[in-house]
Amino acid sequence: MRFETRAIHEGQKPDTLTGAVINPVYQTSTYKQDAIGKNKGYEYSRTGNPTRLSLETAISSLEEGKYGIAFASGVAATTAIFSLFKQGDHIIAADDIYGGTYRLLEKVFKKWGISVTYASADNEDSFKSKIRKNTKLIWIETPTNPLLKILDIKKIVSMVQNRKIYIAVDNTFASPYFQKPLKYGSDMVVHSTTKYIAGHSDIIGGAIVTNNATLYEQLKFYQNTIGAVPGPWDCWLTLRGIKTLAIRMREHEKNALYLASYLSTHSKIEKIYYPGLDNYEKYGLAKKQMSGFGGMISFRLKGGYTLVERFISKLKLFILAESLGGVESLICHPASMTHQSIPREERINRGINDNLLRLSVGIENKLDLKSDLKDALSSL
Ligand code: PLP
Repeated sequence: MRFETRAIHEGQKPDTLTGAVINPVYQTSTYKQDAIGKNKGYEYSRTGNPTRLSLETAISSLEEGKYGIAFASGVAATTAIFSLFKQGDHIIAADDIYGGTYRLLEKVFKKWGISVTYASADNEDSFKSKIRKNTKLIWIETPTNPLLKILDIKKIVSMVQNRKIYIAVDNTFASPYFQKPLKYGSDMVVHSTTKYIAGHSDIIGGAIVTNNATLYEQLKFYQNTIGAVPGPWDCWLTLRGIKTLAIRMREHEKNALYLASYLSTHSKIEKIYYPGLDNYEKYGLAKKQMSGFGGMISFRLKGGYTLVERFISKLKLFILAESLGGVESLICHPASMTHQSIPREERINRGINDNLLRLSVGIENKLDLKSDLKDALSSL
């Protein structure tokens, strides 16, 4: 079955009891046991829930992986992965990642004796040079948040061959519609399902997909033991979102390409970051690794913070908000919002200056979105 069909049918067969075409929300914390040790496959909803299982089946199918595990948030999914490691282990993370992942590494896992080194997301070789004897994980996003850098997954995978180092790819920005990291040999794919997968800015969720049975068992253990599981309603809403993932992604991309081309020639824009522009540094790699470029654009305004504030205040359609991947267009100021947890100096070293803005391009009419940007820019 192809992607669009799997998005609608995988894990979502009609209910066997009633024939309901749409799976029920199994809003229950516990399950009747017929006798001690005898149950129908479910004991307690932190451990397992049928609505959650539907979601896990659907997501693993979209990533073309064997096992899916759903979490209460993208950060909870990330926490489960970092929990695989112990004191003395070493993680290499890309230097352009979601601020919350950086915070988790710096403020939680470092405290527990796991060391972290950041490698340049501009250059895959920098990951190789950072590998130590105790390195256990390479963590990347591609495209990265917020600078939309593209990392060659296959190349990074080839660097760790014959070494016991896992590769985890946060695929939130691309979504499984445009990129399938497991195909390139990564061990785990991570999602903030809050974003494109659910797609309507109405839930917080996360997921991991893997082909590795041992990793799956370990991650299931952490899902149940740490307990950051999504509730049945959120799973159901995410499943509802998944059904339209393909068509939404196509629209996000179409609009983003249109706006990126417009912004790329605008006199008030210093630099634009969108992997789908054919003069973009990693355009060739993006084209090879992804089947589309997604709906995220970042850009720098010519000028400082005051201008940024003015620009944002003039927007009527783009909503100033954290998050991304919903049907509505959002604008975010990474330095003060999503990446605020990175110390200022470090943030500036990484290119997250005060004049950087990030757009999550929605699926509204592209002409309306362009007018909104145009009007705000012409007021500067
Ligand atoms: N990964 C990326 C790339 C993100 O942008 C985010 C959140 O913005 C997360 C992970 C964390 O996801 P959540 O907010 O669902 O915990």
